[in-house]
Amino acid sequence: MGARRFILLGPPGAGKGTQSARLIEALGVPQISTGDLLRAARKAGTELGKQAQAYMDAGQLVPDALVLSLVEERLAREDARTGYILDGFPRNIAQAEALASRGIAVERVVNVVVDSSALLGRLTGRRVCQQCGATYHIQTAPTSREGVCDACGGVVSQRKDDDAAVIANRLEVYHRETSPLIEYYDRRGLLRSVDGLQTADVVFDAVLAALEN
Ligand code: ADP
Ligand code: ADP
Ligand code: ZN
Repeated sequence: MGARRFILLGPPGAGKGTQSARLIEALGVPQISTGDLLRAARKAGTELGKQAQAYMDAGQLVPDALVLSLVEERLAREDARTGYILDGFPRNIAQAEALASRGIAVERVVNVVVDSSALLGRLTGRRVCQQCGATYHIQTAPTSREGVCDACGGVVSQRKDDDAAVIANRLEVYHRETSPLIEYYDRRGLLRSVDGLQTADVVFDAVLAALEN
């Protein structure tokens, strides 16, 4: 069987990370999230992490060269051989072109559609486990014990960039730089859209169906 490569597209807060976590189990391929890779680089204090910091805190895109070098390294790892789910990458046309120019054929691009009005509440209510990265929401997906991760017992907190002013920048960046990818992948016959406003379980079924059609 050939490698199975997928892209999850959608604005910040659409539920890409939530769906990726489920897809890892269902498909048996890893999730590759450039946001997670960048946060890990920051935490590790690498030079790249330091260079990315100011962009992330401001809700701007990290320069393509930095992101592409992280992705390059991640794609070369053993577990990526059977395929992967790209979450949060590509984020602009240049990144999509870089992926294509490496000869990487993506099987399907799933666009998770959530209108702007719903995204602010999604992002301000998001909570993330510091230890395992599990994602929660204070209203729609709360932890059983406040501030404690159900999965690992780690501390659950808010991302620094999930703040109203930074969110506004991230949404603007999404519309300007990332949303053109919808047409880009649609033209190539790869795009399927799912309604991301449904419950996470229903969205998951729709994503799985989109991957097979
Ligand atoms: P993204 O990775 O696209 O930025 P996340 O998966 O982190 O989005 O989801 C953003 C927030 O919305 C999280 O707090 C998550 O728990 C919540 N969420 C995700 N999917 C749904 C859904 N279908 N319905 C309600 N809340 C959701
Ligand atoms: P979200 O959950 O809002 O989709 P991510 O975790 O994917 O956020 O990204 C957080 C931040 O990391 C972005 O605001 C941006 O600064 C940076 N980032 C993540 N992926 C990319 C990428 N592919 N290109 C450039 N910057 C990125
Ligand atoms: Zn955890």
